[in-house]
Amino acid sequence: MERLIENYMDFISCNKTERLCAEASVRIAEQNGYRNIEDVESLKAGDKVYINKMGKSLILFNIGTDDISKGMNILGAHIDSPRLDAKQSPIYEDRFYKSGIVYLNTHYYGGIKKYQWLATPLALYGVVIKTDGTRVNIAIGDDPEDPVFCISDILPHIAQDQMKKPASEIVEGEKLDAILTVYPNVKDYHDKEKAAYKIGDNKDKVMKFLDDKYGINEEDLASAELELVPAGKARYLGFGKNLILGYGQDDRVCAYTSLIALAEGKAGKRTNCCILSDKEEIGSAGATGMNSHLLDNAVAEVVARLDVKGNPELVIRRALANSDMLSSDVNSAFDPLNANLYDFYNSSFLGRGVVFNKYTGSAGKRGASDANPEFIAKVRNQLYKNDVYFQNAELSKVDVGGGGTIAHYAAEYGMNVLDCGVSVMSMHALWEVTSAYDIEQAYRCYKAFLELE
Ligand code: MN
Ligand code: MN
Repeated sequence: MERLIENYMDFISCNKTERLCAEASVRIAEQNGYRNIEDVESLKAGDKVYINKMGKSLILFNIGTDDISKGMNILGAHIDSPRLDAKQSPIYEDRFYKSGIVYLNTHYYGGIKKYQWLATPLALYGVVIKTDGTRVNIAIGDDPEDPVFCISDILPHIAQDQMKKPASEIVEGEKLDAILTVYPNVKDYHDKEKAAYKIGDNKDKVMKFLDDKYGINEEDLASAELELVPAGKARYLGFGKNLILGYGQDDRVCAYTSLIALAEGKAGKRTNCCILSDKEEIGSAGATGMNSHLLDNAVAEVVARLDVKGNPELVIRRALANSDMLSSDVNSAFDPLNANLYDFYNSSFLGRGVVFNKYTGSAGKRGASDANPEFIAKVRNQLYKNDVYFQNAELSKVDVGGGGTIAHYAAEYGMNVLDCGVSVMSMHALWEVTSAYDIEQAYRCYKAFLELE
């Protein structure tokens, strides 16, 4: 189990974007006998395939011996995490104060506390796609040789006004711009007669650096996805190797354990499926999010390759409607320092096993899928049989707040869905906390669930 934890820590340290997660997951899947469905003409029991949607979400199938219209066992987690995205025209030089500072202009992604992103080392990841289709990969800030980036904050000595503001206003979203460089040229700056420094010179130098190193120009940045994330690796927190501090554990802690549970699993009666979806943090939108035809299109591709009887459209609908799914997403861990926000009797605790959220949502369960007790009983029974520990919880006290997962998008197909994931402390912060024991339980839970007949 220590190997599972070490591998998990490596996975989240090396894969801080949805693209990198999808890429790494393909590698893990292929090592376990999965093939790209595009290279497969027909499928039978025991075959393993994956569908890679735009390099940002992944759906994997391990075909069972049962008729697929009887349903599948599905694990679903998301591989996107809160971060700062570069804007379309991202690089600018301060032209009002002629400070010479060149910035990366960002638009935050997902639910963040903006002030947490100031004065902390950031790494830049992503892709730039040139007009000829060439993809340039960017990864700066996690190699010890690399520089990092940073957003400035006000020194406390002159922050009287800032400190009076509510936390939501301490830093405006528009001010979340990271320093890329200032090329000092003291001589040019002071030599007024020559006026050698012109605004824009430093930006030009940055662009020249990007051209020399990556062969990209400013226009190319319009077709790019660049993400600022915390720089640094996941680490053990505190004594005893019990806790993990790492970025993006919502929801890569469930994504990784789901993927490994599926990849290492044997072919059973029911077809096993694992969805690693994108864009959950912004409402599962877009072609790579769960609020799309991601899942039914994938099942259609599988059914098209199976030797099925009857109307294929009906087979697809039945396969989905008769499925059971664990929507594997994280829950907030009880925090004694902020105990007033939690219903103690319905909270999840670090180190007490995987978490069942019968429902999520907010303000009267709005946005929840609310799992059927018949289905919960089936999952409970399987976990008892396999000595897997679970706890029942809600995110917080009633009306304190709330959140959603991908559960209700899957439930739209008529399948059973239960939110079932790992407790996270400081969720959505740059460095989130999980328990190694819970990660092990999640992995064992997902494995046992996939074996359900
Ligand atoms: Mn999540
Ligand atoms: Mn989240």
